[in-house]
Amino acid sequence: SKVIEGEKLRKKLHNTILELKGNIRVFCRVRPLLPGENSSEDKSISYPTSMEFLGRGVELVQNGQKHSFTFDKVFMPEASQDDVFVEISQLVQSALDGYKVCVFAYGQTGSGKTYTMMGKPGIPEEQGLIPRCLEQIFQTKQSHQSQGWRYEMQVSMLEIYNEMIRDLLPSNRSNGDVARTENGSATKQYVIKHDPNGNTHVSDLTVVDVCSKREVSYLLKHASHSRLVGKTQMNEESSRSHFVFTMRISGISESTGQQIHGVLNLIDLAGSERLSKSGSTGDRLKETQSINKSLSSLCDVIFALAKKEEYVPYRNSKLTYLLQLSGDRRRRSLAGMVSPESTNWMFDCGAIDDIPVPYGNFQVSGSGFSW
Ligand code: ADP
Repeated sequence: SKVIEGEKLRKKLHNTILELKGNIRVFCRVRPLLPGENSSEDKSISYPTSMEFLGRGVELVQNGQKHSFTFDKVFMPEASQDDVFVEISQLVQSALDGYKVCVFAYGQTGSGKTYTMMGKPGIPEEQGLIPRCLEQIFQTKQSHQSQGWRYEMQVSMLEIYNEMIRDLLPSNRSNGDVARTENGSATKQYVIKHDPNGNTHVSDLTVVDVCSKREVSYLLKHASHSRLVGKTQMNEESSRSHFVFTMRISGISESTGQQIHGVLNLIDLAGSERLSKSGSTGDRLKETQSINKSLSSLCDVIFALAKKEEYVPYRNSKLTYLLQLSGDRRRRSLAGMVSPESTNWMFDCGAIDDIPVPYGNFQVSGSGFSW
């Protein structure tokens, strides 16, 4: 399989985003400096204040060179978890209306993907997108009941590591523990299939019926524990796998018989650090190559969809094949994360260093991003 290395991948991402123009919404969140981190002298980050780019632009200066980027929205370090959720909540409503939705968090390790998706456990204001989405979904479920709507929800949680799927929820057959071989790999096949109605099935994957946020929170805790166990068994570095949370929502109106089938996919992508930076040999090299391969395949898919090409190369990676959304009710959003002290922050924006990007070219429109 063709592995696209750091530089090439970055250029490709850059070109992909230039081509998107309105088919996807891309946000950039800059996390605050953490205690002990210092902003370095040869790097600075600022936000243009001109009306045209207010709230949408980022300017990065590195070694005296300035790079400017525009997104649909930029969240500055002081932005709260709720500020970010407000932008995503329309997509949650779409899933409740029967759309298939994907939200990706993209960026290098330490840039704030997991914080944005999950937040800090036990601190309500710092809850991430996933718990906030759950709150919205179950609240809507309850409020729509009075209008005669009945909903059923199912969740599954998995991660993709080295192009292999790992189920993160307990299956009945393996007594509450995810079945693994001695070397820690999953024993099950997890074959991905798409039926003619556009639904995705993963054989052997645990899918759980849920009716409250509390139940899903419990499953999320289990998934997080399974991830840790998997990482230890595989001698895996943290953040080297993609985490995929999927909720299927089926609704039926008791008065009209109208049915909806929505899907909400929330994805915490593996760290996007460069091949050279992770000092890769052996297992680490394999990890980095498969991450590059799947991020690169994700670009190919987005690119083909944005250009409305007939052939969309979903099959080139597990991630894209799993998230293949067919039919005309599809929506996606991409949140890029930047850490202010990062050594390769340009990459984290889903844009590219070395090539300054004029604002005009990088624009992605704030509406009509379905494909
Ligand atoms: P990633 O998942 O991209 O590897 P994390 O989400 O683990 O990164 O974030 C790295 C560290 O930064 C964590 O300690 C996290 O709590 C902190 N962090 C990230 N984003 C924010 C933020 N917006 N506000 C406060 N702390 C943050």
